[in-house]
Amino acid sequence: MPPSSRPSLFPPAPSPDTGSLSDLLARTFGFPAFRANQEEVCRAAISGHDLLLVMPTGAGKSLCYQLPAIARGGTALVISPLIALMDDQAAKLSARGLSVARIHSGLDRQTSRQACMDYLNGSLQFLFIAPERLRVPGFAAMLGKRKPSLVAIDEAHCISQWGHDFRPDYRMFGQHLHLLRPAPVLALTATATPVVQKDILAQLALNDAVRFIHGFRRDNLAIEVVEVPKPLRTERALDLLRDPARRPAIVYAPTRKDADETAATFAAHFPAAAYHAGLDADQRERVQGRFLDGALEVVVATIAFGMGIDKADVRTVIHTALPASLEAYYQEIGRAGRDSLPSRTILMHSYADRRTHEFFLERDYPALDELERIHKALARRSGDGPIARDELQAALRMDAEIFEKALEKLYIHAAVNVTYDDRISLSPEANGWRRTYRSQADYRRQQLDLVGRYAQGHACRMASLVAHFGDTADSRRHCGHCDVCSPERAIAQSFRGLTTQEEHAARGILKSLRSGSSPSTGRLYKELYPREDLSRNDFDAVLAALATAGLVFIEEASFEKDGKPVNYRKAALTREGEELVEGAPLDLSLRERSTRDTPKQRKVEKPSRNIQEKPPITLSPQGAALEQRLKEWRLTIAKKDGKPAFFVFGDSVLRSIAYTRPTNLTALAAIHGVGAAKLERYGADVCRLCAEN
Ligand code: ADP
Ligand code: MG
Repeated sequence: MPPSSRPSLFPPAPSPDTGSLSDLLARTFGFPAFRANQEEVCRAAISGHDLLLVMPTGAGKSLCYQLPAIARGGTALVISPLIALMDDQAAKLSARGLSVARIHSGLDRQTSRQACMDYLNGSLQFLFIAPERLRVPGFAAMLGKRKPSLVAIDEAHCISQWGHDFRPDYRMFGQHLHLLRPAPVLALTATATPVVQKDILAQLALNDAVRFIHGFRRDNLAIEVVEVPKPLRTERALDLLRDPARRPAIVYAPTRKDADETAATFAAHFPAAAYHAGLDADQRERVQGRFLDGALEVVVATIAFGMGIDKADVRTVIHTALPASLEAYYQEIGRAGRDSLPSRTILMHSYADRRTHEFFLERDYPALDELERIHKALARRSGDGPIARDELQAALRMDAEIFEKALEKLYIHAAVNVTYDDRISLSPEANGWRRTYRSQADYRRQQLDLVGRYAQGHACRMASLVAHFGDTADSRRHCGHCDVCSPERAIAQSFRGLTTQEEHAARGILKSLRSGSSPSTGRLYKELYPREDLSRNDFDAVLAALATAGLVFIEEASFEKDGKPVNYRKAALTREGEELVEGAPLDLSLRERSTRDTPKQRKVEKPSRNIQEKPPITLSPQGAALEQRLKEWRLTIAKKDGKPAFFVFGDSVLRSIAYTRPTNLTALAAIHGVGAAKLERYGADVCRLCAEN
């Protein structure tokens, strides 16, 4: 069952009444009015309900725990995974005259002790804590000595192993929650698909939480998805962007090389530049600055682009390749039209994209066999004590990259122990790692499947995205602008009339559905073309034409098989389709598919190793010196944190750092392999080392 949001469960209660809440909002925060949905969420929290709040970044989630905290009185506990976010929120609240304290690793012991004392004697309104604090024995029990009036968990997707920034410390939080009850618990996040939502609620045992999932619809975006063969995409994007009204624009390219080449092509026609992790920090800052002030009209970026950038008048966002997940895609198209004026987003894809992603997936999630090889080797020598990583790798004769990945996975899934200096042994209590590893890889695969299905889909694009994020209440309304709702206004598509064979297929489909049935599209195909004399792709294209013409309704559906969701589509006649007289002329137009992946083309486009954003092999002498210093630093950190050195940063990541020499966090974050958690823990150190070099 998909989660549902419940729009009007909390009518204004006698206390606190609307007036006093608005007063509190104005008095404490200086805001003249609530934003969409905020008031209702606040009411639910004030009346003591647990809740899950999913709204896009910038929607104003913080207020949804801060205002209730003040209204309820007492102290609110706020768990926040990023020190920077925590400091920012705490500073804002302090500036508004509220009493706030923080406990995190960046503060000295005395400050933390004072914060605990203030908390216990009740003089705080907000206490912010970092999740890793909960590992400290007795800390949770200490918090439990004085019951908080509310518990807020910010960036709650970190709790879920499916969330992109999974933090094991966060997961432990669920165990301690009972100590803090009866306070209501609020879990807040911008990125949680229904699976992640379910996991968050399960981990925190929030069985009766009210779910608010709102605000994903963007009314001013016209979304287009179009099949274009890879070699034609740059040219197609150039054609689209020639019209000055479609600029400023952001073009997302899949690799640094693509970004450089595309930007170079564009630059002959309008001011354009590339932006990616292969540029040094100064260059990147310059590009960002020039884009913001209008000197550059188009930026061609890899996924790294957009950390914190907020340019309001971006008219067009183009993807020249299929993104790896719908979350990433949504974030990226979301950079268009922040000024609320009409804007357009275009996703170019073809079958070849899918294979590129498969390739990356296989690289990032090595086959279970590779993990087994390491595991077995360790099991064989189990009496002999830990073995050095290099020695083990040499003995197994495994490819360095696969070995490092496989070992990392074994470590993450608790199958092996690794000391700080990378000595490895079997973890005695290891069981279940195969299952958790497999399910994580399956999840990634499913995300790919979902973007693939979205791209191939025949439903309103915006409604599909809204539904993906779990806002079922809002997912029925069609946007009216996308290439499905309004193909005649689409700019990146071309349409043609039907061939005789296609027209025949269309009539066959209509006739078959006239019985009132709604079969899966696969069954319909088998029924009409048992000998496959029309290809499945061509059949689907005809179905899409019928859907676009409003005669057939195609619905995404899924069932569970062996505990895994299997997605499929069902087709049924619409009212218009039912009313169509048999034999009446059909005025259909078919989406031109400029790509038919012939076997030959497939071979040519098969991803090769150079797709990988491999770090440059050669470092300058200065770079090599930096790499050495980074390695020494890594060892000290590993020892201090009690985790394997390769887990602080892998060798290839260290090399990229040594090559790009990032001196600020934004630049460091742009490097592949540096996620939010690592940025947080090690960012300052690494930037300092790079700056000193
Ligand atoms: P989120 O956590 O959802 O990404 P924030 O809570 O950080 O977003 O809020 C984004 C911005 O919106 C902040 O600058 C905040 O002060 C502002 N904001 C929130 N609610 C309101 C409101 N009702 N009126 C005006 N500004 C608001
Ligand atoms: Mg936030």
